[in-house]
Amino acid sequence: MRIVLMGPPGAGKGTQAVRLVEKFGFTHLSSGDIFRAEKTSGSELGKKLAEYMNAGKLVPDEIVVEMMAKAITKVEGGLMLDGFPRTVDQAKALDEQLQQAEKPLDAVVVITADIDNIVQRITGRRTCSQCGRGYHVTNIPPRKENICDDCGVELTQRDDDNEEVVRQRLTAYTTMTEPVIEYYRGTGVKMIQVDGNLSLVEVSSVMIAGLEALRS
Ligand code: AMP
Repeated sequence: MRIVLMGPPGAGKGTQAVRLVEKFGFTHLSSGDIFRAEKTSGSELGKKLAEYMNAGKLVPDEIVVEMMAKAITKVEGGLMLDGFPRTVDQAKALDEQLQQAEKPLDAVVVITADIDNIVQRITGRRTCSQCGRGYHVTNIPPRKENICDDCGVELTQRDDDNEEVVRQRLTAYTTMTEPVIEYYRGTGVKMIQVDGNLSLVEVSSVMIAGLEALRS
């Protein structure tokens, strides 16, 4: 099964992605993670990506499509795309690639979220730099302040998780990415919409039930 996971920043995509991987064994390709790894490598491409990412702006389509196409080609079996596509042109390029490979999308999962909650959710996010476990300063706090429960190392905050950049990322989402949901509605691919304001467990159950119905 091949799916796209969509939703505004801070809707809980990362957390839900982990659950879907556990349940369905998808290979999880997060464009944001792929770009952050490139940024950390210090390459020329990474420096270019950082200019956009640190400002909360979308990376240009040509760069995104090329990097993601390369990553997608390597995947055998189940695939979950997260954070890609984010523009209608990216979605069209993805459809073309998947159609050529005769591996079309099976579903698009959209997690919706209340914009008012998003800034609070994102600015409080922290991650363990060693194991990648996610926390939130008030919603999912570690036992000891700013220290990972599992590894005992300090938690970090993403460079682009500050309020100013979050607002820019939300604008990018409403202007460039919401039209992608309309695009998919028009293609007839199966859509599964979930209210991201529900609890983590409820959101997972709705998604899993929708995807299991597709498998059977
Ligand atoms: P994310 O981790 O998905 O929130 O992505 C972090 C940042 O990476 C975004 O704010 C964008 O600057 C960039 N990015 C990730 N995916 C895409 C994409 N599909 N198109 C354009 N920019 C992207």
